[in-house]
Amino acid sequence: METPWYSEVQKKLLHVFKVESFRRNQLEAINATLDGQDVFLLMPTGGGKSLCFQLPAICETGRTKGVTVVIGPLISLMDDQVQALREKGIDVEALNKDMPAEKSREIRQRLRHSSNKPKLLYVTPERIQLDDMNETLGLLYRQGLLARFAVDEVHCISEWGRDFRDAYKALDVLRKNFPKVPIMALTGTATKRVVNDIVTRLKIEGCLQLRQSFNRRNLNYMVEAKVGRGLAKIVEFINSKHHGKTGIIYCRSRIDCEQVAGELCDQHRIPAKYFHAGLDRETKTQILQDWQSGACKVVVATTAFGMGIDKADVRFVIHQCLPRSLEGYYQETGRAGRDGKPADCVLYYNYGDAQSLFRLIRNEDTTSAESKEASEDGLRRVVQFCQNVIDCRREQVLAYFDEKFDPRDCNEQCDNCRNGGSVQVQDVTEITKMIVSRMPNDEYRITRNQLVDIVRGSQKKDLREKGFDQLSLFGICKDKGENVERIIDLMLSEQYLATRSIQCHQAWTKEYLKRLLISCGEAGSFS
Ligand code: ADP
Ligand code: MG
Ligand code: ZN
Repeated sequence: METPWYSEVQKKLLHVFKVESFRRNQLEAINATLDGQDVFLLMPTGGGKSLCFQLPAICETGRTKGVTVVIGPLISLMDDQVQALREKGIDVEALNKDMPAEKSREIRQRLRHSSNKPKLLYVTPERIQLDDMNETLGLLYRQGLLARFAVDEVHCISEWGRDFRDAYKALDVLRKNFPKVPIMALTGTATKRVVNDIVTRLKIEGCLQLRQSFNRRNLNYMVEAKVGRGLAKIVEFINSKHHGKTGIIYCRSRIDCEQVAGELCDQHRIPAKYFHAGLDRETKTQILQDWQSGACKVVVATTAFGMGIDKADVRFVIHQCLPRSLEGYYQETGRAGRDGKPADCVLYYNYGDAQSLFRLIRNEDTTSAESKEASEDGLRRVVQFCQNVIDCRREQVLAYFDEKFDPRDCNEQCDNCRNGGSVQVQDVTEITKMIVSRMPNDEYRITRNQLVDIVRGSQKKDLREKGFDQLSLFGICKDKGENVERIIDLMLSEQYLATRSIQCHQAWTKEYLKRLLISCGEAGSFS
């Protein structure tokens, strides 16, 4: 049905935003917000969320009037949007804490008293909490000139999300203080749990929920066995497929980033820079600029290199170490191929990395037991993803977002779909049952590597010294060849074998923690 604002919306789309047609869900979101409804928009990164609040903000014919207040987490990110809007001739202001007091006073004056108010106002959630801001918004509200709140990156409101921010949590004041102002919530990432959390916190229960497939069809997903630090393979991959192209390599720690970048530059002539939270602000800005302009092609980074990165022509995203959650993996790989052209996502995996990540999580003393469990759970799903060489990668990742994906639509754009024919399916129930039933009790402390050696019947001296060759487990997988490690790792990741939970004790030295062994005494049962 045609809305009263239909023709204005079309005209502004074409003449202001210079875009021919809407993408999926954009018009629906715009119509709903111009009608005064709350909207929850779930759209993958690069999908075009900003247009859904920017275009209504400049429309005169909707049911809403006045200023559209955009709340976003990053000042740098907002600056880009503000500049882009100004270039289109749109009247927009942004308030950030780094601007001179003079300037922010001026903007507040414009909002409060001027008859010529800006169409959009960009602020951080921290700003919303300040008294003067609350007053200004109150004044606008009473004049009926608060058109809508657009809360971008809204998943930051949820502790279940990966970028939780305290100030976002305080956004429940929006509905309380300005009950009649429609809210638009936008995110490129949300599991069911996070969505529910957002809806309750913002009190937008009756909102129109728009979501679409999170499939990124131009991305090619691969998981490769990681040998050593994986550098040889990474170099080979870049040189053979992406020489001179733009890419990101994600590493776990700051030191890893520095070493990998150093080695790429010095030994392999791949110009690369490292980026992590430990760099000073100036350096970070410089790297971001060089990256955006194309002067720097390869960035080796921790997850600190993330939100707000918007470069269209990223041809590859490499994970040198496995990510901590599938959601993180989706976000990080999602930075590739935003121009819609093919791009590669390669994850280099070995179980050792997983083990040390599990250990890291257990030893983190800043988080609650509950969030620790959630972190472990998240990592376990990554491990399962890496070890699953059968199901379509897309199907696996999208399942995390509760999206059912038909693997036939993958078009062989993942390693598992491509290898479809060559994978041998083996039923390992019997052998795993046998391993579990013969597992010795707790007093034997066996590492994962020792367990592999034991079931293989290895002749290593230290096995004999510890008496491991006397166990009934010894040698039961003699004939299983390379599959032994896969079976053991599968049992660990599926929790048929448990690792001892490490409780940090003052008296335990680091060395002791390092040596802490996997205890296989707590074997689970089979279904
Ligand atoms: P998101 O916030 O969902 O990650 P953005 O709003 O930053 O995505 O938009 C990503 C890119 O898509 C931008 O360059 C934007 O100009 C472009 N875009 C948005 N909507 C359309 C459209 N209907 N047609 C063509 N390009 C669009
Ligand atoms: Mg966005
Ligand atoms: Zn596939």
